[in-house]
Amino acid sequence: MSDIDGRAVAKQIRAEVAAAAAKLRADGTVPTLAVVVPTDDEGTAWYVRSIKKAAEKEGVDCRVEQLTAPGRAEIIAKLEALSADPEVHGIICQTPLPEGVTLAEVGWYISPFKDVDGANQESLGRLAQGRRTFAPATAAAVLELLKHEDLTLAGARAVVVGRSTVVGKPAALLLLNESATVTVCHSRTKDLATVCREADVLVAAVGRAEMIGADFVKPGATVIDVGTNPTDDGGLVGDVDYAAVAPVAGRLTPVPGGVGPVTTALLLRHTVEAAELSLTHP
Ligand code: NDP
Repeated sequence: MSDIDGRAVAKQIRAEVAAAAAKLRADGTVPTLAVVVPTDDEGTAWYVRSIKKAAEKEGVDCRVEQLTAPGRAEIIAKLEALSADPEVHGIICQTPLPEGVTLAEVGWYISPFKDVDGANQESLGRLAQGRRTFAPATAAAVLELLKHEDLTLAGARAVVVGRSTVVGKPAALLLLNESATVTVCHSRTKDLATVCREADVLVAAVGRAEMIGADFVKPGATVIDVGTNPTDDGGLVGDVDYAAVAPVAGRLTPVPGGVGPVTTALLLRHTVEAAELSLTHP
């Protein structure tokens, strides 16, 4: 089994981002990502700091818009203002959101041209149509990692466990757009291990620590672990039982060091692409 090195993939993407950002700046455009933070959740604050640090290292400005106890209307007003601001190229709205507010409803107010984390329904619709769009960065990271492995996805059997709008569904659509034969599983799927064992490419996006064991994996399969489950000692484990699956899988992403760093790198790539797009579609 070989590890799929997400940090190495992220490093390569970030070098490309830095070059594109330098070119944009030389031409008078400062690529800028706005991160709307509607709650004071501790985990979100840590994640936002890490995005800001990564962005600024590669020449992308990162504007953190911390909102204090906002309601739906305040969040929407902020997203509309940023969508209309010519100096902002990418917008993400962090979860968790306040009680009763969903990303699906507020995401609509992020301009599709700036929707670098694929939160607007139009972005998901374009993805479903196989058209160019910004896919949610985590789902895009799954595909990016697979592409770096030089796998033939056309005709491959892919199984995605998880059907959320931010990860499972868009990952399945991206795989389908690559002509993989895709099965999407969820909490009501019967005989999950048997379905998973059919996969040449298995994507775990469940949010249950180490749920995917060796009996879920076809020998030699490529396994992408999206899960990030905090452990009691302050660490992180995936949805895949790494120690059990490593002897069976052909290739496997570790947690941490797999999907996570590529997700951040792709948010930055999407932001410079959005900045480039703003020059032709102001
Ligand atoms: P959600 O909770 O929104 O979705 C989980 C999905 O897993 C649902 O579709 C659910 O099914 C399914 N599921 C739950 N339990 C089971 C089960 N026992 N058997 C089969 N399917 C099950 O989670 P997200 O999609 O937001 O996130 C998934 C994981 O990815 C989490 O660990 C999250 O932390 C991580 N993540 C990682 C990111 C990164 O950058 N690395 C970014 C975003 C998320 P149903 O629909 O039927 O309820």
